[in-house]
Amino acid sequence: MARESYDVIVIGAGFGGSSCAGLLAKRGLDVLLVEKNARAGGKAMSLSKGGFTYTAWVVIGAPVEGNLYQVVLDELGVADLARLVIPGTQGSIYKTTAGKYTRLPLSSTDETDPNVIFDWLEIDREQRDPALQFFAELTLMPAEKIQELDGVTFEDWITRHDVPRSLYAFLVSLCCDGMFMVPPDSLDAAEAIKSLQDMFLRGGGVFCEGGFGRVAEAYCEAVRRHGGDVLMGTRTERILVEGGRVTGVETKKGTFRAPIVISNAGLQPTVLKLVGEENFDKSYANYVRDLVPSYALLGHRYFLRRPVTDAPYGVVFSNDSPWSLGRFNLAREGKASREGVLYYEVPSNYDPNAAPEGKQMLMTGSFCPANPHLDDEEVQAWADAGEKILFGAFPEIEGVIESKELYTTRSVSNATRDSVVPGAGGETIGLAQIVGQCGSHKPSIQAPIAGLFYVGCDAGGSGVGTQQAIESGMNVAEAVTRYHRLRKARP
Ligand SMILES: Cc1cc2nc3c(=O)[nH]c(=O)nc-3n(C[C@H](O)[C@H](O)[C@H](O)COP(=O)(O)OP(=O)(O)OC[C@H]3O[C@@H](n4cnc5c(N)ncnc54)[C@H](O)[C@@H]3O)c2cc1C
Repeated sequence: MARESYDVIVIGAGFGGSSCAGLLAKRGLDVLLVEKNARAGGKAMSLSKGGFTYTAWVVIGAPVEGNLYQVVLDELGVADLARLVIPGTQGSIYKTTAGKYTRLPLSSTDETDPNVIFDWLEIDREQRDPALQFFAELTLMPAEKIQELDGVTFEDWITRHDVPRSLYAFLVSLCCDGMFMVPPDSLDAAEAIKSLQDMFLRGGGVFCEGGFGRVAEAYCEAVRRHGGDVLMGTRTERILVEGGRVTGVETKKGTFRAPIVISNAGLQPTVLKLVGEENFDKSYANYVRDLVPSYALLGHRYFLRRPVTDAPYGVVFSNDSPWSLGRFNLAREGKASREGVLYYEVPSNYDPNAAPEGKQMLMTGSFCPANPHLDDEEVQAWADAGEKILFGAFPEIEGVIESKELYTTRSVSNATRDSVVPGAGGETIGLAQIVGQCGSHKPSIQAPIAGLFYVGCDAGGSGVGTQQAIESGMNVAEAVTRYHRLRKARP
């Protein structure tokens, strides 16, 4: 049973909110964590159905070595509640210029002969040396050089190099379209290079048995074990502000008081809805309204009567896949192809308990706008584009589908953040990691209202999706612990 007042209230048990709440509780703060859903995990929650267990949609963790899921599980002493798995293989598929779908021939991501990748990508002999030099510059770039690229787009940086088209398509498919969900002509180069280095040097492709949500559920358990309270199925309706300071939250289950509120509900929903813009300067409210979300993924979950692949995950792409701002805008208007990159994941190929014996569930994700209010026709057009790529790469699937489910930006928004700005709410990551919103321009974790903080992908971290959210959780826990102690130490 929750009490009336706490040191700190955290709204939302996504990866940012749950990690932050767990760490604060472990450091001795009296924590209440309030989540509107029945399960923790937000954009990477776990689901189960008919003997299948999975993350709600395609979610691939990176880096492998030193990943923050494990760092925080270990710090909170709950590593026994969520078991990470590293399949070590993957099944990326390149559609050649002749239209043939060919799978990355590596049996293991440890095999690093670049010629294997160059052969697969049909890169000519004379293009290989410049391509290798490019890779070397990318993976060995020192931190201060990366820092200098703060404010440069990934497209501007990559076109300074002689990169063969298929290698460009592979990198952009993995990085811009996959890790950040923004086209290369807006993605911040410093953010991109840091994460690509992480992936190349520390590995990519980590998952969790039972779906990634188990990790956030374990973080919630840590809150309870350290004396805090967790209220699931409890939507926060208002963040209470008196005299320019937060004083607590109003929920359907009652009003709870705290001098510190940390919101994982998204920066825009927090400011424009939960607090209300009347409590902020007009210029701050306008700044928040203008922030740009990442693009989104929609896709299907295909429940199959027999397995069609042994790959745990992969990306399907061609030289024409990469998005640009211009091409995306044309595609939205139906004036350019909606076919881009397709991601797929097969949970039972890394977690043997994820599907009933002899069956398989394969889920997909492909680009679409973040707007959760897309009309049915537009949703269908984006979904058809993704399905066409899948059926091209795996023609045998069509004959073995028992059932399929479509998830859309509406599903993502319903499960995570409210849509308070036109076109936003169903985004995959959070605020887009584009030039002007990253590095030194990343929104501050501290709101201009005393005691109000933001946690999650919108502020306080960098890197890829779930990892970024946890990094934010760690950084915000640090800042809030300090803030709390300073307040207590005041005469
Ligand atoms: C389709 C899809 C594919 C993705 N693929 C990848 C991937 O391959 N790799 C990767 O690392 N990341 C991936 N991500 C991104 C990653 O899941 C997110 O960036 C990350 O999980 C966001 O965490 P967060 O803490 O910022 O917020 P969220 O996950 O949005 O969590 C916010 C939480 O706050 C709760 N909440 C909101 N409002 C309220 C309220 N008023 N009251 C109470 N609770 C509230 C929500 O219910 C939710 O639990 C993917 C996301 C999607 C949608």
